[in-house]
Amino acid sequence: MTVLLPRDKNASRNIKPEKSLSGLTSADVNLNKPRDINQPSILSSDKKINDKVKKVFIKTYGCQMNVYDSERMVDVLSPIGYAAVETPENADLVILNTCHIREKAAEKVYSELGRIRQLKKKVNPEMKVAVAGCVAQAEGSEIKRRAPVVDMVLGPQTYHKLPEMIAKVHRNSGEVLETDFDTLEKFDNLPESRQVKGFSSFLTIQEGCDKFCTFCVVPYTRGAEVSRPVGQIINEARNLASQGVREITLIGQNVDAYSIMGPNSKQWGLGELISHVALIGGIDRLRFTTSHPRDMDDDLISILGKEPKLMPYLHLPIQAGSDKVLKAMNRGHTYEEYKTLIVKIRKSRPDIALSGDFIVGFPGETESDFQQTMKCVEEIGYASSFSFKYSVRPGTPGASLPQQVSEDVKSDRLKRLQDLLYSQQLAFNESLVGRTLNVLIENVGREENQLFGRSPYLQGTHFNGPADLIGQIRPVLITKAGRNSLSGELMQK
Ligand code: SF4
Repeated sequence: MTVLLPRDKNASRNIKPEKSLSGLTSADVNLNKPRDINQPSILSSDKKINDKVKKVFIKTYGCQMNVYDSERMVDVLSPIGYAAVETPENADLVILNTCHIREKAAEKVYSELGRIRQLKKKVNPEMKVAVAGCVAQAEGSEIKRRAPVVDMVLGPQTYHKLPEMIAKVHRNSGEVLETDFDTLEKFDNLPESRQVKGFSSFLTIQEGCDKFCTFCVVPYTRGAEVSRPVGQIINEARNLASQGVREITLIGQNVDAYSIMGPNSKQWGLGELISHVALIGGIDRLRFTTSHPRDMDDDLISILGKEPKLMPYLHLPIQAGSDKVLKAMNRGHTYEEYKTLIVKIRKSRPDIALSGDFIVGFPGETESDFQQTMKCVEEIGYASSFSFKYSVRPGTPGASLPQQVSEDVKSDRLKRLQDLLYSQQLAFNESLVGRTLNVLIENVGREENQLFGRSPYLQGTHFNGPADLIGQIRPVLITKAGRNSLSGELMQK
């Protein structure tokens, strides 16, 4: 087991001012767009694969930060002749982009590496194998010791070094392990343009976390809170717009902790950044995630009410309703403070829909503490949510707390909580029946003539219409609602 040691919180924080505005270029763990983080995703490329093109297969686990990172790895590898493929069998390079947030994450990676070892032995002996992401950061060289099939281990802040790491592997020149925490070096060395598919894209603006919640490994695997320079973000957003992207989700482990000296020599927070990204032509919708209640400042709350491109949906985790548990989790706020914040947010943006994260069975949580979480959900009301049983993360303070709660009790509490949360989600969706919502049309649906898109509240929405509307934002009258999706009829503009 790797013991995770607290790092120097100030080691890589960036406060450098930028020179000029011309040429302008936060886990909780569940980011805005719903995604089952237990289901890995596979990247593919439209690039025609011929014998000269090298093939990279990337399997992505975890949150949207990892989805973004995997896309950027393809951008880094593309200039040296790689294209993404959908299966590992004939890949020259297999990358597992791992997540450390769920229980037994490392063990799951080792099982997957066992399968890859068989594949390499039987089908493709020349295949190179890399482990990236948060498990790579936490386990380090232990991975190569336990799984000799692995050629490279790289932490989340080092994937810009992939080309030199691959060259080193081919030269057989020693251990290829990169687990630095220099987030800014990574962003400085990524290709300026991105290859994107589709009309909605993530854009990382901030990484790392200084909050040290006692259940979470992120501060140890992603490093300190670091904000990307404004110019880089604006350039990347413009590049996305030029490729037809209509919706950008600004992402970060603590996205609302975004803070950097702006081009006008003033400190910019997320609110200021959003108001500038919103000026980019072609970008019609903006979202941001994941926010921390302690970092939702008045500027951001005010922008929520003023900026029409910002969608009325906010993921703002609380984790638990009991002050005693919030303190043990080191969340840094009470339930009353959270509630006061929600009142302010709803005053600024009355149509906002809220999403939250919840953990049940944190060490020491009694039935009465759990009832506080139920009360919180009843009082606040959530349109969507992510809820889990607490599970121990080795190396985090929570792992050594006394009074661990039994699995049976955790399962019972999770069921009661989810019954409530899911009934709220269904009720919210049903409240939209009869309303007309603007839907960003992303693709064809499963049925003939059917289209699929996302509402302002992020629900998947199905309706009939011609495929040439894909990529457009169109009004849809909602006629039917389920817990996870909406159906409707396309309206005239
Ligand atoms: S330590 Fe807390 S605030 Fe930071 S990423 Fe983890 S859960 Fe979120």
